Amino acid sequence: MTEVIDGNAVAAEMRSALTDGIETLSDAGVRPGLATVLMSDDPASETYVSMKQRDCEEVGIEGIHVELDPDAPAEELFDTVADLNDDPEVHGILVQMPLPDHVDDRDVIRAIDPAKDVDGFHPENVGRLVAGNPRFKPCTPHGVQKLLESADVDTEGKDVTIVGRSNIVGKPLANLLVQKTDLGNATVTLCHSRTTDLAEKTRRADIMVAAAGVPEMVDGSMLSESTVVVDVGINRVDADTDKGYELVGDVEYESAAEKASAITPVPGGVGPMTRAMLLYNTVKAASQQESVDVELP
Ligand code: NAD
Repeated sequence: MTEVIDGNAVAAEMRSALTDGIETLSDAGVRPGLATVLMSDDPASETYVSMKQRDCEEVGIEGIHVELDPDAPAEELFDTVADLNDDPEVHGILVQMPLPDHVDDRDVIRAIDPAKDVDGFHPENVGRLVAGNPRFKPCTPHGVQKLLESADVDTEGKDVTIVGRSNIVGKPLANLLVQKTDLGNATVTLCHSRTTDLAEKTRRADIMVAAAGVPEMVDGSMLSESTVVVDVGINRVDADTDKGYELVGDVEYESAAEKASAITPVPGGVGPMTRAMLLYNTVKAASQQESVDVELP
């Protein structure tokens, strides 16, 4: 029997577990605050940001939302980030990517106070992660670790193949999984668009993570029996639905599920975990900045 790993359920548990920490902070007179900044009129980005704000409200985090005209000069965004850096009620700052072409996203990431960088993308936080001393684990890779843990999948000594080497998913996940820690100690193969014989790498995996942004590119023929399959991909493909599209992952679900011992669906797998781990990082940020000890799940 293939286990379908229910990301909605695991994320709900995570949110509920975080409320203890939020209560501890509240007893100390602290309300954690998360600022989201949107400089885009892309509907997907708008949806992501509004979902993050809704999550904050649900668990008792103060959500602050700033929207900037996508045509505004880059300085407006840098000024906004500087104000949020200085605002003591803001513990976490998330600038929704992608940004307009005239704004250099690397400069924006560097402008965020690393102590408030709940995405974990600032070079200081990336360095700490690589060195094995993370301040904030990036939300999607951390969510993947928590999903594996929830399904009792031990990563120690396992061969993990990750398809995709982005700075937000593939690379940080590889760095987390090779650490000498719980939920780590794996042997990782990190694949990308120039990898040769990808199927040979995915077939050797005990755990295969797809994060390439290519609809259904990994199918059952590329997997060995009993592989644990984690599908990070979220792709809109044209479909005869009310919205005119449907969401599919980077994994061809039907054929992969036939081979897998466990698999995450799309939607309802990694996506909800990414959102939950943002709340986790915000609670952690508030606890660190306000020097209040909080037990994190
Ligand atoms: P990206 O475009 O930044 O990176 C994609 C990576 O995949 C690149 O490193 C590229 O080398 C590799 N790749 C592309 N085509 C390939 C191929 N044919 N063979 C092997 N490697 C290939 O994407 P990203 O931001 O990392 O996102 C990847 C996917 O994950 C997207 O579908 C995105 O929507 C989704 N995503 C989901 C969540 C979530 O919460 N579930 C979070 C972030 C991203």
